[in-house]
Amino acid sequence: MNSKTRKVIDLRSDTVTTPTPDMLVAMSEAKVGDDVYGEDPTVNELEQYAAKKLGFEAALFATSGTQTNLLALFAHCQRGDEYIVGQQAHTYKYEGGGAAVLGSIQPQPLEVRADGTMSLKQIEVAIKPDDIHFAKTRLIVLENTFAGRALPMDHLAAVRELIDSRNLSLHLDGARVFNAAVHHGVDVREITRYFDSVSVCLSKGLCAPVGSVLCGSAELVANARRWRKVLGGGMRQAGFVAAAGIVALRDNVNRLQTDHDNATKLYEGLKNIDALNLTAESVKTNMVFVDCGKEAATALSEWLAGKDIVISPGPVTRLVLHKDISSRDVTRVIKTFQEFFSS
Ligand SMILES: *Cc1c(COP(=O)(O)O)cnc(C)c1O
Repeated sequence: MNSKTRKVIDLRSDTVTTPTPDMLVAMSEAKVGDDVYGEDPTVNELEQYAAKKLGFEAALFATSGTQTNLLALFAHCQRGDEYIVGQQAHTYKYEGGGAAVLGSIQPQPLEVRADGTMSLKQIEVAIKPDDIHFAKTRLIVLENTFAGRALPMDHLAAVRELIDSRNLSLHLDGARVFNAAVHHGVDVREITRYFDSVSVCLSKGLCAPVGSVLCGSAELVANARRWRKVLGGGMRQAGFVAAAGIVALRDNVNRLQTDHDNATKLYEGLKNIDALNLTAESVKTNMVFVDCGKEAATALSEWLAGKDIVISPGPVTRLVLHKDISSRDVTRVIKTFQEFFSS
């Protein structure tokens, strides 16, 4: 194939997905108004649709998952409160410390185990007694999927039981919660019903160009809506992007299975390359993790770039499958990896 016309295969993240043709039509035909006045019918439709689909009273459309997670923290916690969160969780590690920087909310990070769970015992120990020495523990945050791993369903029930016994709240960073639902073969509400609030990214495997939704009670969402404005996240004719979000939630959930199948195909094709150190644990929902060390990954990355395949090399390298990578593309990726490791 001519390198000028060869398709670029981008395995860095499912955030690189481009909108589907149906989305572009919905966006161009969207009815819009000023959403800060609550007058954008398409944003209102998306919020109602998301709330219903995820089993909540209300929902709020925001610019990003970082913002919906931050809004959830602001809505649940006051200044001087604390949230318990995974040490490797997005809401702790990858959001610039926003809760502390902007909200005076203290994180209490705990180690996340390989299966994406935190130890219930460690959570219990971390919950502070009511004592003037301590920040007030208010909230626990889980992430599902975590590094591509769908959390075990019984873990969700166990954490909920603990939450109820201690009168706390439970937030889900569900950036990829639909991948978890598809993985378990359950309606997403079987997962979200354990939580007081859930943040979902529309802009990853669901392919919307922009946006996330925060779901919760009407009261929580009203509170988050106020904070969204404070943070400068009040958008005006946002219906043009919300229209793509409706298509994402309505039409693109079932397609996630294709990404999971392609991840399995990629894993099967790469597992015999010894240098990559793949185990059965390396493939999770729409991701494959290869562990060849940073140096080899960097050399691999340079080689692949010359073949129009893009990865983010790291100590462990994450390969993410999504709508813009077909089964045929996976075949090309496997062949190109094999060429590199046999040369
Ligand atoms: C992508 C992601 C988010 C939000 O990211 P944005 O880029 O701000 O939309 C939150 N949590 C997890 C686990 C994510 O993967």
